[in-house]
Amino acid sequence: MNPIIVLMNGGLRLDDQPALAAAAAKGAPILPLFVMDDAAHGQWAMGAASRWWLRQSLTSLSQSFEDIGSRLILRTGDTADVADALVAETGASGLYMLRGYSPTARKLEAVLHDLCAMRAIECRRFSGSLLIEPEHIATGGGTPYTVFTPFWRRARELVQTFTPTPAPKRLSAPDTWPESTPLAALKLDPVPAAWAEPIAANWLPGEAGARVMLEKFVAEVMVGYKAGRDIPGTEGTSRLSPYLAHGEISIRRIWHACQKAAALDEGAAGGSEAYLREIGWREFAHHLLYHFPDLPQKNLKAQFDAFPWREGDGAALKEWRQGLTGFPIVDAGMRELWQTGWMHNRVRMIVASFLVKDLLWHWHDGAKWFWDTLVDADLANNTMGWQWVAGCGPDAAPYFRIFNPITQGEKFDPDGAYVRRFVPELAALPDAYIHKPFEAPAEVLRAAGVTLGVTYPKPMVDRKLARERALAALASTRADQVQSLCHTGA
Ligand SMILES: Cc1cc2nc3c(=O)[nH]c(=O)nc-3n(C[C@H](O)[C@H](O)[C@H](O)COP(=O)(O)OP(=O)(O)OC[C@H]3O[C@@H](n4cnc5c(N)ncnc54)[C@H](O)[C@@H]3O)c2cc1C
Repeated sequence: MNPIIVLMNGGLRLDDQPALAAAAAKGAPILPLFVMDDAAHGQWAMGAASRWWLRQSLTSLSQSFEDIGSRLILRTGDTADVADALVAETGASGLYMLRGYSPTARKLEAVLHDLCAMRAIECRRFSGSLLIEPEHIATGGGTPYTVFTPFWRRARELVQTFTPTPAPKRLSAPDTWPESTPLAALKLDPVPAAWAEPIAANWLPGEAGARVMLEKFVAEVMVGYKAGRDIPGTEGTSRLSPYLAHGEISIRRIWHACQKAAALDEGAAGGSEAYLREIGWREFAHHLLYHFPDLPQKNLKAQFDAFPWREGDGAALKEWRQGLTGFPIVDAGMRELWQTGWMHNRVRMIVASFLVKDLLWHWHDGAKWFWDTLVDADLANNTMGWQWVAGCGPDAAPYFRIFNPITQGEKFDPDGAYVRRFVPELAALPDAYIHKPFEAPAEVLRAAGVTLGVTYPKPMVDRKLARERALAALASTRADQVQSLCHTGA
């Protein structure tokens, strides 16, 4: 029997991997293939933190294939050229893959489809990364959704119960294995290597790590998720995002586990529903990227094209990146990102708002920094997150939301546990000043060992003025809406 090539990009797992399961069901020898094709992704080629993650993930996936009598073939270069060469080399009778939703993935799938047609071999594309395909959901008028709540209401009606497919126990191997490029040739190692050490201490990339995280979440965290998900100082969320971004866990597996737990335990049902709603945001982000493929560059709301954002490198951008803004919750978030490759969702909103509203910096620059430093960098989620915060994206709110980093900190990190962990130079401040050291009396600062401007920066902006400046900037682009800008923060 001629072998079938399974392109593993987008689904680095054996469990509930429909392309792999379908190929295995044929009984043909399987050639699992991963192609590192940086050039195809242009400015969205994988960032440094994701590359570090991918390296560990490929190591783990290779071992998983070895364990079931198979082998992961690594190659670099243009994916279509690589696939074509492998078909020619092995006489493969088919090419199977998971579908993707980014413009690059869609373009590639079309090219691979033509290539298979030319070679007269089978080309099969499988859904397996979303709960609901973007073409299967539309507004009453037949247009894509651009507001989350109605999207999710409809999606919730459409999404069914899934029975995920278990990982194959054994895969048929070809008589001769094609050559695989050494992992080192994929250029995934961070420079300098020491940068990734604290990240490595926080994560276990790969399918087994994903399974552990899911089990822990369902058993310990889900019941309190509704309230806990907003508190960055506690482990109140699933931290499954990097595993989802690399396709190491199936979204249907997660859905299934949550529904099962909710059915067994009434107490968990509220947490499960709240969690599934967040998964819904991921679905929505992919729906948007699919229907508006230029979203990573272009504002969803065109009136923001005239917004006077600052762009490119600059001292203020650098201070934000380094967590040296003088606003503790912002600095804690930016340092969490640098040290762990991840940042809590609530804090992502706060730091993003600070950059685009308080500093008037373009969301593009923030999105690029996140892209390079997040282990869960995901084009759909990252783009939507930044556009949402900037105000130019999908948001039903009629006002221009400006997060106040002080009140946000006091509300969601009331005892300052999060700030104390990532901004240790402020750790000895009392709760009353942990989010506003610049308001602390001199004797309080002295007792806590804090000297503003020396041990910790003074605030880089006057928030009142920054807020007025942001509102004026908005007014300059939306003269008709100035009257409604009276909201003071989320
Ligand atoms: C400016 C900004 C940038 C972001 N960039 C990314 C990104 O590059 N990659 C990424 O995966 N998420 C991104 N998010 C969304 C969100 O912050 C993360 O998904 C979440 O913090 C991941 O942690 P978790 O897995 O513990 O989340 P949980 O609360 O446990 O949620 C479970 C899953 O639901 C999905 N999810 C949750 N919240 C959101 C959301 N607001 N938007 C989309 N999906 C969501 C994620 O897949 C997440 O893993 C961004 C948010 C903002 C505001």
